[in-house]
Amino acid sequence: MRIIAVSKQQPASAIAAAYAAGLRHFGESYVQEALPKMAELKELDITWHFVGKLQANKTRAVAEHFDWVHTVDRLRIAERLSEQRPHSAPPLNVLIQINQGGEEQKAGTLEHDVDALARGISALPKLALRGLMTLPPQSGKGASAWFASLAALRARLEADGIPLDTLSMGMSADFETAIAEGANFVRIGTAIFGARHPG
Ligand SMILES: *Cc1c(COP(=O)(O)O)cnc(C)c1O
Repeated sequence: MRIIAVSKQQPASAIAAAYAAGLRHFGESYVQEALPKMAELKELDITWHFVGKLQANKTRAVAEHFDWVHTVDRLRIAERLSEQRPHSAPPLNVLIQINQGGEEQKAGTLEHDVDALARGISALPKLALRGLMTLPPQSGKGASAWFASLAALRARLEADGIPLDTLSMGMSADFETAIAEGANFVRIGTAIFGARHPG
């Protein structure tokens, strides 16, 4: 189990302090905000995770600067990331974001569409499909059941011949629950850094 310290709306100095305390994996949600912080911290051995909404006009910067992307939810975006990944870089690690509750305002692919998307991503040369990510609905069956359901989806895909070694689930409010249900990555922001500083 690995902690991704989600450092959006936190200054580079806060990332450097968390790094000094031993954290090595950091998550950012906004490309424009992340790039200057990455430049400032380029001497540190940080693995960068993109956890924000992926817009087509931002894929190049993500492909060039990040090591992991947690929020791939359609093939067109995956194709752009693969095409734009620099030849010298290793394949970009990709998680498929699942919209578990079918919520209209939320990003993510529906469970019904995940097989086709996973096979499409697996065929792309500069991407490495690693697993699934969720931001579960706040309502309904409760976080524990949503996390268990993501774990079950991974098991089903693996049984269908799609190997996935990573579940990204759980944030500050529910990471213990996610770990109990088998999370490999927990994405923790405020519980590490305190309140965010927008703008
Ligand atoms: C901001 C964010 C987090 C961290 O949220 P906290 O509640 O501050 O821990 C985790 N995952 C994603 C996708 C986020 O956007």
